[in-house]
Amino acid sequence: MEIVHTIQWMKELAKDALVNERALGFVPTMGALHEGHFSLVREAKRKCSPVVVSIFVNPKQFGPSEDLKKYPRTFEADRDALASLGVDVLFAPTPEEMYPAGFSTSVSVKGLSDRWEGRARPGHFDGVTTVVLKLFEIVQPRVAFFGRKDAQQARLVRQMVSDLNLSTEIELCPIVREPDGLALSSRNVYLSSDDRRAALAISRALDACRKSISSGEWDVARLLTTMRGILEAEPRLTIDYAEIVDADSFEPVRVIRGNCYALIAVKVGTTRLIDNAYIEPEGGAFRVVL
Ligand code: AMP
Repeated sequence: MEIVHTIQWMKELAKDALVNERALGFVPTMGALHEGHFSLVREAKRKCSPVVVSIFVNPKQFGPSEDLKKYPRTFEADRDALASLGVDVLFAPTPEEMYPAGFSTSVSVKGLSDRWEGRARPGHFDGVTTVVLKLFEIVQPRVAFFGRKDAQQARLVRQMVSDLNLSTEIELCPIVREPDGLALSSRNVYLSSDDRRAALAISRALDACRKSISSGEWDVARLLTTMRGILEAEPRLTIDYAEIVDADSFEPVRVIRGNCYALIAVKVGTTRLIDNAYIEPEGGAFRVVL
């Protein structure tokens, strides 16, 4: 596996792949890699060659009071794991390489980036779309792989790709969970054992939503009462939002009709966690994927 720190060299490698008509697959990450990231890498390996993974803790997507400084950084372990998965190139630029003095451009997907995560974390999504556009331009991927764990982020990236006529195809991969249901996240390392136990209420609430929908409850107000009841019963959790939204517009819906997401964002102590379930029509009813 080649480790690349400069944009110039990464562009050279990307050009080689283009010239040789190879389908370059790309997995952007912030490191502190876990099975969720590895599932994206495996999918990229199945569909593409070469595979490039980036590790870049993007300062522009952290708010001033967020965890940029203490965000977990485990470069050596990440590098070894990616090498053993057969990744071809690890692109790990420094913040100065990505944002030299004088950097002044921001990419903003209007509307979609104001809701939910965008409202809770002002400027976050502009940081995400700015870095993703830069990374796409540097890596020139045929396909980029994103996790459904960050459903709103993936939706925004798709909008940007469509609006700006980018040539990269976006693949969305399922959420990887611990055996007890907790969605894997680099931020789970912040959780104390009590926090971790409390955090299980998130997947329990999504699972209860799934069961209600399977038994024919499509009224969103009643589904939300069930979900919020489970979250509120856990004193260590504070709900930021628990909503059911249209999978395309991310606007709240009143009745489950088409593709939707049940979205949850909570704080457990000082750690903010997000999770979701994907709801899709199937044979006159709905299938809910956690
Ligand atoms: P991050 O390093 O948190 O920026 O995440 C990099 C990519 O991994 C994003 O596309 C995330 O959606 C994805 N990802 C993070 N956690 C999971 C998970 N538990 N399952 C699937 N994908 C994930």
